[in-house]
Amino acid sequence: MTFDIVTLFPEMISAVLGTSITGRAAAKGAVTITAHNFRAYTHDRHNRVDDTPYGGGKGMLLTVPPIYECCDTVMKLREGRKIRRIYMSPQGKTFTQEDAKRLSGYDGLLLICGHYEGVDQRVIDLCADEEISIGDYVLTGGEIPACIVCDAVSRLVPGVLADEECFKSETFEDGLFEYPQYTRPEEFMGLRIPEVLTTGHHAKITEWRRGEAEKKTERVRPDLMNR
Ligand code: SAM
Repeated sequence: MTFDIVTLFPEMISAVLGTSITGRAAAKGAVTITAHNFRAYTHDRHNRVDDTPYGGGKGMLLTVPPIYECCDTVMKLREGRKIRRIYMSPQGKTFTQEDAKRLSGYDGLLLICGHYEGVDQRVIDLCADEEISIGDYVLTGGEIPACIVCDAVSRLVPGVLADEECFKSETFEDGLFEYPQYTRPEEFMGLRIPEVLTTGHHAKITEWRRGEAEKKTERVRPDLMNR
């Protein structure tokens, strides 16, 4: 799967996605992650990418031509592949695990990162199929949101995680949080692991885990239980 991230700050993308699991997945070719700097698509002497908003208002807006040209170039590069184009935006639909699953069904994602006051509306109209928000707060730019979407989607791509079994019981997979997990030592600072986990009795362990998952989901996220 390909991830093309259209941004003014490609170094933010490589700093986050170039390490750990996503970095290794890219190194072995399970995913391709490319940050494209749309400043390279300006045609004036000063490589300007922003301007003041029509009608007045504070701050600077990213202009449409360099972002459009950058997206167009990427789409030509990915011709013949099923690519979903997404503008990262606090005004988008809130990103969930369901969205991560849905988006992992595409051949690739093109993620557009705004900055400053955001982008000219025509970027959204011309270059995006949908807008995605990572939560009800406003960040300085779309780079961290794009990394979040890229991370969540890429770990669902076959070959990215060492053991794909591990996400079957994970939080959100069956509408519940994952159960509490323990590893060695058996006791630490007076806290012992739950006895049932040492019994080797698989049915009892499964029942205990289900009960714990339900209790915590009910306490912290009753809305998930009700769904
Ligand atoms: N003026 C815009 C508004 O009020 O909707 C906010 C612009 S924000 C300061 C700059 C950029 O950060 C946005 O264009 C967007 O790409 C990104 N951004 C900020 N918060 C975000 C969020 N919660 N989810 C996704 N992207 C976000």
